[in-house]
Amino acid sequence: FVLMATGQSALVAAGALRMPFLASLPFVGIIAAMGYELSRDVFKAAKLSEDLKNSQLRLSQAAAAASMVIWEWDVATGRILVSDKGRGIYGLPESTDVDLSLFLSILHEHDRPGVRRALDESLAGGAAFAEEYRVRMPDGSIRWISATGHVERDAHGAPQLMRGVSIDATERKSAEMRVELQRQELAHLSRVSVLGEMAGTLAHELNQPLAAILSNSQVGRRSMDQAQPDLAEMAAILDDISIDAKRAGHIIHGMRSMLKKSPPDDEAVIDVNETFEQVMALLQSEIIRRKKEIHPTLGKDLPKARAGQIEVQQILINMIINGLDAMQSQPAGLPMRIETFHNEAWVVIAIKDAGPGISPEVQPRLFEPFYTTKPEGLGLGLSISRSIAERLGGELSARNHPDGGAEFRLLLPIAT
Ligand code: ADP
Repeated sequence: FVLMATGQSALVAAGALRMPFLASLPFVGIIAAMGYELSRDVFKAAKLSEDLKNSQLRLSQAAAAASMVIWEWDVATGRILVSDKGRGIYGLPESTDVDLSLFLSILHEHDRPGVRRALDESLAGGAAFAEEYRVRMPDGSIRWISATGHVERDAHGAPQLMRGVSIDATERKSAEMRVELQRQELAHLSRVSVLGEMAGTLAHELNQPLAAILSNSQVGRRSMDQAQPDLAEMAAILDDISIDAKRAGHIIHGMRSMLKKSPPDDEAVIDVNETFEQVMALLQSEIIRRKKEIHPTLGKDLPKARAGQIEVQQILINMIINGLDAMQSQPAGLPMRIETFHNEAWVVIAIKDAGPGISPEVQPRLFEPFYTTKPEGLGLGLSISRSIAERLGGELSARNHPDGGAEFRLLLPIAT
């Protein structure tokens, strides 16, 4: 423009052209300012595109380094965009279009409803999508995926797009499962060791009904030798025998289930008072042998708790034996008090002993594995009990009661 305007001005000045000058000073100023702005924007755009390329490169390098898959789900069309590497993680063929139904079809059937629900909730405006699920690979193997995503909406709030990342969590999951298995093994070992310690008293406990059965059957046999056996007495004897046989059966059943190695049942629901009574039946002779007393106050109309029977029994046995151990050093007299009650969220079992309480140096290490102050102790009871309680979604806490003695509280979630 400058060249053209200069040429034109020269021609007009020389009289070769008869027209007004094209360029005036203010006009050139405006053109120069516009030119400057425009070229600055062009440079800026070029720089932005360079930055964008770099940041995309960084993002994809970071994603690759973290074995992350970036995906995008177009809610309207249902299409899912995944990189080729991402397809590999999901075991998806390279060329096919991926949509929601194809994605759902490769999920493990147990996880499919949960993932569907989580996606629907995120779309409906709930929390961000964050799920762990299993995917079936074409060769039949299972892969764990951990995925998070968030929904992008239009101006009216309607969901348009869900963007997210997924990672292959198979390694972590199998490590977690190994730890869980070890935890179960340990819990089992500690049950076996508690029962081992109680073997003597349990044998004694079994001996009682067996001896009663023996003497009752001898009395019965003798009365049959009489000319006219007393049938009413015979009936009473047989009733006694069957009660004693049942008692022995209960003890054996309790021991067997404690010794059994069964994986925890996440769906299990228990009546805490009933579980407590079973524990009392197992511990009865131990309590008598130690010349101690337990005063239970069982809550009425207690709701059921979501927990496994054996697991809660194991925690209770640990707590009660610990309490009895603590009371060993104290002069006999005060009993151990066990209370069951509930609030809105929890069924609570409170075990308050009449021992010296938890000493200040023990307090911070109470739930530490292998921490014990007993010469024969393993130091595993409390740490295992707490890990069981937490796995059940509950809590196990300890404090010194204002009236003296230690109080342990086991909180179990109410079954809904
Ligand atoms: P262990 O009974 O084998 O020692 P635990 O983990 O059950 O293992 O207990 C760890 C320690 O906590 C005990 O050695 C004891 O010092 C302390 N402790 C546990 N229960 C009580 C209690 N009721 N009163 C006082 N101290 C307790």
